[in-house]
Amino acid sequence: MSQETIFTKIINKEIPADIIYEDEDTLAFKDINPQAPFHALIIPKKAISTINDITPENSHLVGNLYVVAAKLAKQYNFSDDGYRVVMNCNEHGGQTVYHIHLHMLGGKEMGWPPY
Ligand code: IMP
Repeated sequence: MSQETIFTKIINKEIPADIIYEDEDTLAFKDINPQAPFHALIIPKKAISTINDITPENSHLVGNLYVVAAKLAKQYNFSDDGYRVVMNCNEHGGQTVYHIHLHMLGGKEMGWPPY
């Protein structure tokens, strides 16, 4: 089950976004409220609400998000320094937009644990 979110509007170009990657299945754009010098969201164009809705049938779309992350890391020159990708799930995970998205944060050294 999936509902339209603000990300559907970004996919359909109904609202502006700083899009940095696009192909048939995947879109990446800069986060509007960046938490690192580089903070992008990588999303499947097909809406999947949460990690709980990932299935063997749609898992290739999720795999694609990591392929794009690796591509962007090279393009933006921080693949060797490193970066973080994270996907939040539901309230305790801190999810606010119910269309799965891989946060990609780079350009600084991250702390751990992330809370
Ligand atoms: P979540 O809290 O893991 O669901 O992450 C949602 C992210 O979407 C947050 O980091 C927001 O800053 C980001 N966000 C919300 N609306 C927009 C938008 O219109 N453009 C870009 N990023 C957005």
